Amino acid sequence: MLRRHTRCLTSDLEGIRTAAEILRADGLVALPTETVYGLGGNALSASTVRAIFEAKGRPADDPVIVHLASASALERVAVANQVAAKLADAFWPGPLTLVLPKRPEVPPEVTAGLDTVGVRVPSHPVAAAILRACDLPIAAPSANLFGRPSPTTAQHVLDDLDGRIDAVVDGGPATVGVESTIVDVCSSPARLLRPGGVAAEAIEAVLGERLALPEKRTGAQLAPGMLPVHYAPRTPLSLVVGSHARDRLRLEVASALDRGERVGVLALSDDLTYLPGGVRVEVVGGWSEPRVSAARLFDALRALDAAGLDVLFARDLADPELGLGRALADRLRRASRQVLDTRD
Ligand code: AMP
Ligand code: MG
Repeated sequence: MLRRHTRCLTSDLEGIRTAAEILRADGLVALPTETVYGLGGNALSASTVRAIFEAKGRPADDPVIVHLASASALERVAVANQVAAKLADAFWPGPLTLVLPKRPEVPPEVTAGLDTVGVRVPSHPVAAAILRACDLPIAAPSANLFGRPSPTTAQHVLDDLDGRIDAVVDGGPATVGVESTIVDVCSSPARLLRPGGVAAEAIEAVLGERLALPEKRTGAQLAPGMLPVHYAPRTPLSLVVGSHARDRLRLEVASALDRGERVGVLALSDDLTYLPGGVRVEVVGGWSEPRVSAARLFDALRALDAAGLDVLFARDLADPELGLGRALADRLRRASRQVLDTRD
């Protein structure tokens, strides 16, 4: 792969102008969004989109999301419908991606050959300014190496992609911290493809009907140790779920310490007093503070991964079937090597 000099740009007018120039010249720029940092490139250039995949080491069969400056640009890349218009009106700019039939101008590299395209309008002021300044639809997956925890700071981007992209714009830490909610609005009822920054319940309230759920997962994906690993630290993470999760977490941590292992825990603030000493802890929010936990999640996973530990543990950070808790549960399951279910 071509080695690139990665510039670190500020999020002022000068940085925004430079980022837009690089994007117009078909370069790769990591930009801050409210969800996570995105690795942006001209969505209408097949070779630029191929370069995004190469920089991330992302398999070509995983479609990327197209980012627009405003909903009025939607028809440049997709064929809208009434449901899309309603949701765009309610949630854009913001962390909601709509999957719609694509226009022929969008190269197949963006959509992994699908005839649909995922589109969103980010609310982050720096992302919005760059999108306006370059006046292009920008394809942007998360700006990390494929499979690693998503980047929520410019430093996370550099840790993964320094030398592989042209620039990163430092806009400070991402405020939402988990990726967008993805809704397929091609079918009726609309289908939730990925839980994310917008609560499914809020979308259902706007639509006045329930969302269809993602296609059923295969049996293999439900087996412990065989989950589709993504967003994952290199240190093996075990996730404890179910009604007795806190007690089981304490037990698992104590046994690992007994075995002489160096242990890290992604901990709820509520759990601090329950954990044995001698453990490296990264604290997120409390059980009823999923926004705080979402904003901290990937940074905490990266910090634990960098700490030279043998094993990591976590438990669900909020109700896994409610609001932002769904996105937290989804990311934690994919980040885990095994899920220990205490429901009995
Ligand atoms: P990210 O890794 O945050 O860029 O999100 C990309 C994800 O969006 C993909 O892994 C897909 O799950 C989803 N996605 C993007 N485009 C489409 C599409 N046309 N149809 C279905 N899912 C899509
Ligand atoms: Mg990603």
